Amino acid sequence: MTGTTVYIGLGSNLGDRRANLIDAISQLRHYVTVECISSIYETEPAYVTDQPRFYNVVLRGTTELEPHELLRFLKRIERRLGRAYAVRYGPRPIDLDILVYGDLQLDDPDLTIPHAKISERAFVLHPLAEIAPDLVIPGFQETVATLAQRAGKGQVVRVIRGLTTQLTHDVQEESPPARLSLTHVGVKGIKRIVRLAGEERDELFYAEMDLYVELRPDQKGVHMSRFSDTVEEVITEVSTEKVPALETLAERIAQAVLRDQRAVRSDVYIRAQFPQERYAPVSGKLTQEIYTLIGIAAATAQRAVHLVGVEAEGMMACPCAQDMVLAQAREQLLEAGFSPEEADRALAVIPLATHNQRGRGTLIVGTDQPIQAQDLVNIVEGAMSSENYDLLKRPDELFVVTKAHRHPRFVEDAVREMLYGVVERYPDLSDDTFVLARQVNMETIHKHDVYAERGGIAGRVGAANWRVPHMSHPTPLSMLGCERDSHYQ
Ligand code: ADP
Ligand code: MG
Repeated sequence: MTGTTVYIGLGSNLGDRRANLIDAISQLRHYVTVECISSIYETEPAYVTDQPRFYNVVLRGTTELEPHELLRFLKRIERRLGRAYAVRYGPRPIDLDILVYGDLQLDDPDLTIPHAKISERAFVLHPLAEIAPDLVIPGFQETVATLAQRAGKGQVVRVIRGLTTQLTHDVQEESPPARLSLTHVGVKGIKRIVRLAGEERDELFYAEMDLYVELRPDQKGVHMSRFSDTVEEVITEVSTEKVPALETLAERIAQAVLRDQRAVRSDVYIRAQFPQERYAPVSGKLTQEIYTLIGIAAATAQRAVHLVGVEAEGMMACPCAQDMVLAQAREQLLEAGFSPEEADRALAVIPLATHNQRGRGTLIVGTDQPIQAQDLVNIVEGAMSSENYDLLKRPDELFVVTKAHRHPRFVEDAVREMLYGVVERYPDLSDDTFVLARQVNMETIHKHDVYAERGGIAGRVGAANWRVPHMSHPTPLSMLGCERDSHYQ
């Protein structure tokens, strides 16, 4: 792996100092290929002297992170290890400093490279001199060995039991025995609370995320631990700004994953639970219904696309069984002495029994045009025999049961209704809009479920002419302009 050579200084004087150093170094490895670590040095605290003694080490490694990215990453590790930024130079479980970054000399308000105090800190110079005595720090004339000598050993003592220095190589970057690309490699089910900007106030959602990249044929594995690090970074970033929608967040994460994994394509799937206030149909009782909001995004270096979707439940009534009930009821009426006309009139009035299912519909739309999740919920619920509710009073129950039996639908009907519903609600959707409709009905007369799906790119003439690409995974690859499902092969 290429990258810039960096020297990083680590210090700890709170808690288990050695364990803190080991923990910080293992987290550093997510982005820094560690080549060499100094012994541990126990040192007197500088500046604020009324605090425990420090353990200090310096390591050399290479990184592909830019200097500010590296600083942000170091601060994330500091935070995770419990660092609070209370007293400047005060006690801390971990302090991570960029000492040297290649040949760079930089003086930004928040970042000075080489580290501003490097030449006055014996606790940095001695461990540094151990691993890089001949290094000349950019901006200095003399070697580190000379600077260390001049600073004097003072209270800097090398600890016998150092860190067991492992010169680990980056296994993930090795070549695999079978050179095949993989289309989706990553992590599933990262759980987070996310904040989205609502119309009146921000809202918090419980969300589960799946993050994937496409793996090069010559790369053994991805950097798994980086995924959650990426999520944390994006969520921290967006917690201070207004993110309008879940798909926007998915896109931000997809772009960050692409960058952090150095991948050619990344995919992000987020499912969040969102509440909607609803009134029961007859009693008018206010109830809260929970729907699933779906944000999907995919990114390449050239393009990023996002999709928004919802999942909602409703009630289904089977048309086929209802037909059989009708035929049988008609025979029985005739046997009981009703004339054929009377039987038909009665059957037109009386709701006829059939078997029911609870259906779960999913509708996903990928377009740059703004799409309201609430519209999608209405379309999904409208595609079923009846919507259902958490709270129903007796008259509401009657309404729902009657409505469902007046609109008997198959699982296939629900999918078609959803697709037509999208075209009807958004008649101006462009040709390259991606639409996916999926319905699962949980049977009551069987132990299995029934399923129907259609997904693809909407054509100009509407749902009837939609071109359906082969999709083993509902990734909008076609939206990214990818003909094949992999960049490699
Ligand atoms: P120190 O590391 O000097 O003991 P801190 O850890 O409290 O003190 O650092 C305070 C700030 O110094 C950090 O928030 C960071 O923005 C800034 N800083 C400037 N240059 C660097 C650098 N090279 N490495 C790490 N932090 C730096
Ligand atoms: Mg620091």
